[in-house]
Amino acid sequence: MDTLTTFDKLERLSRNLWWSWHPEALELFRRLNPGAFRTAGNSPVAALRMADRDVLAEPGFGAEVDAVYDEFRAYMDSPGPRADAPRTGYFCMEFGLHESLPLYSGGLGILAGDHVKAASDVGLPFVGVGLFLRDGYFKQYFDPKGWQEDEYPSIDATKHPVELVRGPDGAEVVVTVYSGWQEVSLRAWRLQVGRSTLYLLDTDFDANPYEYRFLTRRLYQGNRTTRLQQEIILGIGGLRMLRALGEQVDVYHMNEGHCALLTLELLRERREFDHDAEGWVKRNCVFTTHTPVLAGHDRFDPGLFLSQLAKFRERLGVSEHDLLAWGRVSPHDISEQFTMTVLGLKLARSSNGVSRLNGEVARRQWHHLYANRSVDDVPIGHVTNGVHLPTWTAPHARDFLNKTLGSGWLDRREQDTTWSKLDKASDADLWSYRRSLRKALIGFVENHIRYQTMPQNAKLDPDVLTIGFARRFATYKRAPLLFRDLDRAAALFNNPDRPIQVIYAGKAHPADKEGQRFIHEIFELTQDPRFNGRLVFLENYNMEVGRMLVSGSDVWLNNPRRPYEASGTSGQKVAIHGGLNLSILDGWWPEGFDGTNGWAIGEDASHVYKDPAVQDPEDAAFLYDTLFNSVVPTFYETKDGIPTKWVSMMRSALKGLSYQFSAHRMIEDYIRTIYREEVPA
Ligand SMILES: *Cc1c(COP(=O)(O)O)cnc(C)c1O
Repeated sequence: MDTLTTFDKLERLSRNLWWSWHPEALELFRRLNPGAFRTAGNSPVAALRMADRDVLAEPGFGAEVDAVYDEFRAYMDSPGPRADAPRTGYFCMEFGLHESLPLYSGGLGILAGDHVKAASDVGLPFVGVGLFLRDGYFKQYFDPKGWQEDEYPSIDATKHPVELVRGPDGAEVVVTVYSGWQEVSLRAWRLQVGRSTLYLLDTDFDANPYEYRFLTRRLYQGNRTTRLQQEIILGIGGLRMLRALGEQVDVYHMNEGHCALLTLELLRERREFDHDAEGWVKRNCVFTTHTPVLAGHDRFDPGLFLSQLAKFRERLGVSEHDLLAWGRVSPHDISEQFTMTVLGLKLARSSNGVSRLNGEVARRQWHHLYANRSVDDVPIGHVTNGVHLPTWTAPHARDFLNKTLGSGWLDRREQDTTWSKLDKASDADLWSYRRSLRKALIGFVENHIRYQTMPQNAKLDPDVLTIGFARRFATYKRAPLLFRDLDRAAALFNNPDRPIQVIYAGKAHPADKEGQRFIHEIFELTQDPRFNGRLVFLENYNMEVGRMLVSGSDVWLNNPRRPYEASGTSGQKVAIHGGLNLSILDGWWPEGFDGTNGWAIGEDASHVYKDPAVQDPEDAAFLYDTLFNSVVPTFYETKDGIPTKWVSMMRSALKGLSYQFSAHRMIEDYIRTIYREEVPA
């Protein structure tokens, strides 16, 4: 017999991030205390702590909680179809799970968060390891002249579902690593994400001297020493924490090089009794690389590396030369830095990029590490990224999909018959779906800008073609490309019969002055009378802003300088909402684009120039041509009020892209081709 009270059930629900992809659960918590919920960034734990007793006592509220709780229990108590797959330990520097926990800065973290959730959904035995980035990623605001400023609100552990990991004696579990000859203590916070568990490592407690306490607080900040210390904590410390907790792992997945020191710690453990320790490590580790430019890889000066790993090297029992060799392409080149990606590639049984194109780029990029092979035989494959549909699907979209595809469609996501039901949906239904999502976005934007520090004057029209652009303002993503030729841009915005409106959002890294200039440029354009009201910048891009933009935009603009976008995932979130991608053929888009489900900007991958001064104007010209000649007319050419060609493109995108670029497809690929695959001993 279940004797839990409504409050007990809410308490249990609040402690599992299952709610982050169940809007009906989130809505229950929001009602308990909308103010507390909102202030903590939409946090159920915060709302429950300050719950309004009157809401709890409302007639019917208990029954609603029961229904959600039963669904949660049914999910947690069933093993899931992949319960027999190898137990996976997934290491990553950042995890983007929900806007209330800013443990991410961009696509890498969002991808990792979606990976954790999809692993839970299919029941893959899974633990994740990351850092408790208490200061998270920064909150963006603006000075009166429109320049980005950053602020680091700390995560208050009492308002979030993080739980300090304690041993049977009640004391916190602590492991240590060395930074040089100095001992650093680590404890961990547990975050439950459906059936997956995530451990977040933390140095910020009194076991450590002051200078080590801030180590795990912030993402991608500080000098090279700090970065290396963080990577020692993540790779070496993370593994020690799993051991201390008795977590069993069959395959260690390094997501990007930041955590690759874990291979050396495995080696250290193993060398004590196994003469082929290196072979064992290699059979049990897999590595995913994202970065498509050599300069972007994480690397360290040999002097710094040796001094930080001095004590570790002694325990490992290898020479300085041999230690450095694992991270060098040419072990005898004493000037070569230690590259984390090289370590990952050398000590993993399988390595992959994150899209077909990214895999090809990685094979060319690392060819020199495999000098006796042809480029095609470089052992780096690919698994194309995908997004966790339940996380990114707007509540209104769920209603539409349940109605159109039949409820339970997510369980039938792999079947063509699920998606072919869209052929039977009428044009009018699809078009009204699109209009209602666009309208909801405009409502969100109007409310958001009222509270932001960057003054914005939005005069958005719910019947105007709405283009979204939101991502990190890394310069290769070329946020202002649409405004390279201001006259042509203005003609697009001001066409009296066929105007466009564009919504931007994004943060530039605090050290990236050029990216900040890009944001400022967009800010100034929003004040320019030619664009005023129809061009809007939403501040403080995060998962919530992202969710609204990917659901409400008719067109998702993506114009990176090829081939710098490893995969890109924001465009994958659009298709399920009937949005269309307008994108450079980079990252995932060469696999997704088929001529009927969106637009390619420019030509195929052969059209790459070394000089951005040549590439950028050419790409901008292609962008204008596509907008003027295809995107805009297709949107505005209607029959009985419905743009039939547009709607057929929506249908094609929904049918062909939704599952193919989902995290569920991705996790199945990882299980089948990476986690299960054993290299003969
Ligand atoms: C999806 C997402 C990203 C990744 O966007 P890209 O276009 O792939 O760079 C970054 N940040 C947030 C908040 C996201 O939701």
